[in-house]
Amino acid sequence: MDYKGKRVKIVYRIKRFIHFLFWKGETCDRCGKPYAYVWEAPDDLWAKVTGEKHGGGTRCIDCFDEEAQGKNCNTLYWKCKEGK
Ligand SMILES: [Zn+2]
Repeated sequence: MDYKGKRVKIVYRIKRFIHFLFWKGETCDRCGKPYAYVWEAPDDLWAKVTGEKHGGGTRCIDCFDEEAQGKNCNTLYWKCKEGK
C-alpha cells in the first residue's frame, strides 16, 4: 500500500471512530456508511443476499440492492411506512 492508500485508510478509520462516538443509528457492515432509516428484509431473502444465515449484520439499502443484483434478486420491492 502506498502513502496515499495508507492516508485514505487512516482518514477512513478516523471518520468511522468519530461516527462511532456520536452516531446513534445503524452503520452498514458492507460500506461503513451510517444510515438513518429503519428497514428489514425477510430472513430467507437476507440470507440469500448477504450469506448471513441468522439475520446478523447490517446493510444500507444501496448495498443490499447492489448485492442482490448478482444473486437472482434483480428487482427488489421497497415499501415505506411511518414508524414510531
Ligand atoms: Zn452500505
